[in-house]
Amino acid sequence: MKNKVVVRSRNVLKRNSMRFAAALLVALAIFVAGPNAALAQVPQHHDQAPGFYRLKVGDLEVTALYDGTGVFDPHWLNGTKATMDGVVKALHEDPRLLDVAVTGYLVNTGKQLILVDAGTGTWWGGGALGRLAGSLRSAGYTPEEVDILLVTHLHPDHVGGLTTHDGERVFPNADVYVAKAESDFWLSPEIAAKAPKDAQPFFQSARAIAAPYIKAGKWHTFSGSETIVDGMQLVPLPGHTPGHTGYEFSSKGQKILFWGDTMHAQSVQLQHPEVTVVFDIDPTAAAATRNQLLSKLAREDVVIAGPHMLFPGLGRLHKEGSGYSWAPVAFTGQLDERGPSPKY
Ligand SMILES: [Zn+2]
Repeated sequence: MKNKVVVRSRNVLKRNSMRFAAALLVALAIFVAGPNAALAQVPQHHDQAPGFYRLKVGDLEVTALYDGTGVFDPHWLNGTKATMDGVVKALHEDPRLLDVAVTGYLVNTGKQLILVDAGTGTWWGGGALGRLAGSLRSAGYTPEEVDILLVTHLHPDHVGGLTTHDGERVFPNADVYVAKAESDFWLSPEIAAKAPKDAQPFFQSARAIAAPYIKAGKWHTFSGSETIVDGMQLVPLPGHTPGHTGYEFSSKGQKILFWGDTMHAQSVQLQHPEVTVVFDIDPTAAAATRNQLLSKLAREDVVIAGPHMLFPGLGRLHKEGSGYSWAPVAFTGQLDERGPSPKY
């Protein structure tokens, strides 16, 4: 009897010491590999969340809709040799320096749903772009609900989202508004015929994208300062394209300017507004327009919506040295009512 007890207790002791040894091994493994060793085996995910960002401007609800990101080729920039040498050197240190976004902006006035620029659709950039319609749905809206489309210009990264490659309108209930000078230029077969070969796809896409809206009687042009939407002013910004236009909305003393392609590569053009891009139809006019507008915006309290500024492309400008700095909006989870931001 006594022997049995001794044997049993020896067995228990043996079992316990084996458990202890196993626990010790696990502890040792964690010590050697680090506490997150198990996490390292989980695959990384490279997708971001569906892209939208909301901002209140007076009574307006503005939603930035992410279309995608692209990389701006340094050869698309035209500046002095010294400036461009600086860009190439900076690119070696930060290869993502010339990343640009493509963004469209939805304005819900409470009465109307207005989209300013519609992203690329299937007309530019392949897989990394063309997500605007998905972002719009993620933001709680549908393409059918859009009443008005304000187009800054007819390049495919701003109007590609309007029409499918089959010629279907993506926004079947929307009236499209574009400057007459812009519409006349890109939709003219005579001008297209005289344009250089590498500019031809821009003319072709503009015509194909506009066609179903023209057919439906939903393509409208403006040539002066006519009222399209209450509280919205047309801001002609010629140079990049002949009828390039900004749209400035005001509500309760607050303003937001949708400035189209006033700036492409913020990492270069904020400090060097004189740098132009190969897509500028009239580079001299584009630089003059940018210089004038940037200096005005740095003196005023206006939120800027820039489709190619880093997403969500909403911010304010400040004078810095011989150029400007960009103060992006800070993320906020609450769309509180706020007065104009204080000037210091
Ligand atoms: Zn653009």
